Amino acid sequence: MSARDNSKKVRTRFPPSPTGHLHLGGARTALFNWLFARHHKGTFILRIEDTDISRSRPEYVNSIIEGLKWLGLDWDEGPYFQSERLSIYREHIERLINEGKAYYCYCTKEELEEKRKAALAQGRKPRYDGTCRDKHLPKKPGAVVRFRSELVGETVLNDLIHGPIIFENRELDDWVIQRGDGIPTYNFVVVVDDAIMGITHIIRGDDHINNTPKQLQLYKALGYEPPKFAHVPMILGPDKAKLSKRHGASPILEYKEEGYLPQALVNFLARLGWSYGDQEIFSIEELIEKFDISHIGKSASIFNREKLLWLNAHYIKEEKDEGLARKLIPFLKKEGYQVPDIDYVKKVVSTLKTRAKTLSEMAKMADFYFLEEISYDMEAAKKFLVPDIKEAMEEFIKAIEKLSDFSQDILENLFRDIQKKYNLSTRKFAQAIRVSLTGRTVSPGLFEIMAILGRERVLPRLKRAIATIDHV
Ligand code: GLU
Repeated sequence: MSARDNSKKVRTRFPPSPTGHLHLGGARTALFNWLFARHHKGTFILRIEDTDISRSRPEYVNSIIEGLKWLGLDWDEGPYFQSERLSIYREHIERLINEGKAYYCYCTKEELEEKRKAALAQGRKPRYDGTCRDKHLPKKPGAVVRFRSELVGETVLNDLIHGPIIFENRELDDWVIQRGDGIPTYNFVVVVDDAIMGITHIIRGDDHINNTPKQLQLYKALGYEPPKFAHVPMILGPDKAKLSKRHGASPILEYKEEGYLPQALVNFLARLGWSYGDQEIFSIEELIEKFDISHIGKSASIFNREKLLWLNAHYIKEEKDEGLARKLIPFLKKEGYQVPDIDYVKKVVSTLKTRAKTLSEMAKMADFYFLEEISYDMEAAKKFLVPDIKEAMEEFIKAIEKLSDFSQDILENLFRDIQKKYNLSTRKFAQAIRVSLTGRTVSPGLFEIMAILGRERVLPRLKRAIATIDHV
C-alpha cells in the first residue's frame, strides 16, 4: 500500500440488486461496509443496481431501504440508481471501443449455443472463441459489446481476507459488457461506478471472488486504480448448506415482524464472520470502535437462531420501558387487544421484559393485562380454584373493595394476613389468585400484576373465579 493509499478517505458502498428482499447475507454485507466506513470516519454509499430491468422491482427497492433504515444503517450518499446512469456507462463503453479494448460482436445466440454444446461435449470449458475479436465490426442494432480480455499471464487479487488469489488469464474470455439491448452488464457497471464513486474498499460476499479478475482487468483497461477487496465467507445453515428459508432465515423485515429488535440483529450479524476475542455482546458504538477487516474469518459462518433469540432477549431486557412499550404496541394491536395508554403499557413491559425473548412472545404473554375476559388454563383452574380457598378469597375481595391504596405492599400485607387467618399455604392461595387473574400458573410477581391491573380489573376476575370454583 502506498502512502497515498493510506491517506485516502475511506469510501464504502452497499450495492443491492433489487431483485428480492434484503436477507441476512445482504444485511451483513451492508453492516460490514457501514461499520468499516464509520470506524474510519469515512463515507458509506447506497447504490441500487437495477440495470436488470426484467428482474428489478420498485417494491424491493423500498423494502431494502426500509430494512436498512430499521437496522440503523444510514448512508451518506445515494441512493444512486444505476438505471439513471446509463449515459455514463455508454461513454465508458465507447471509450473502450475507440481504444480497441472492446468490440462489437455479431455472433448469434444460436451460434454461441452450438459452440457451447460442442465444447461441453469435448469436455472443454465453454468460453467465447474470439470470432469477432479482431474484425473491427461497426455498431449494429442487436450487437453485443465484448471486453477484450488479457488472455495470457495472471491476474492477482490481493484479498484482504483470503490473501493473494491468482487467476490464470487463459481461464477468462472476452465477456459481454453490453448486451444486445444496449444495457451494460453487472461486471462492467460495478467497476465504472466503484471507480467514479471513489470507492476505496469493497466488502462483499465471496460468491463474487470469481468476478473479480474480470473486474480487475477492466480497472486496468479504463485506467482506474482498483479499490481493495475483502470477500466475506458465506453464511451457512446448521447443516452446512447455503443459508435459505429452509433454515428459518427470512427477509430482514420479517425479523421485525416477528418481534426482534434491530440492535439484536445488528449484533448477531456482526458476529456472523467477524469476532473480537470471545465477546458476544456489542453495542453499536463498540462495533464501530472495534470493527476491522483483519478479524473477519476465512471460513463460513453458521446461522444459529438460538443465539439470535438469546441476543434478542438480552436487548429486550436492556431497552428502556418507554421505548419497549412503543415497540410493543403494534404487536399488542396485532393480537387484537384494546391498548389503553402508553403508561399502562410501560408498566406491563416492566414486568415482562425479563421473560420474553421476542416482542411477539411478549404480546402473547401480556394477554391478561389487556383482555376483558381471560380464559383459564383448565388444568390450572382445576388444581387451584378449589373450595378450600373460597372463604379466604371472599374475604380478600371484601378487603380489596375497601382499600384506599391499591399498591403492591398493601396488597401483599393483606394477602399475608388472610392467608394466615385461613391457614393456607402461600403457594395454594397465591396460585389461586394468579389463576384467577391471569388464567395461568406462571406470571410476573403477583402483587406487581395486581397493582398494574388495578382494582377495576382485579375485582371482577376474583369474583368470577369464586363463581367458577363449584363448576370446574
Ligand atoms: N449487485 C451486486 C449484488 O447484489 C453487487 C455485488 C458487489 O458488491 O459487487 O450481488
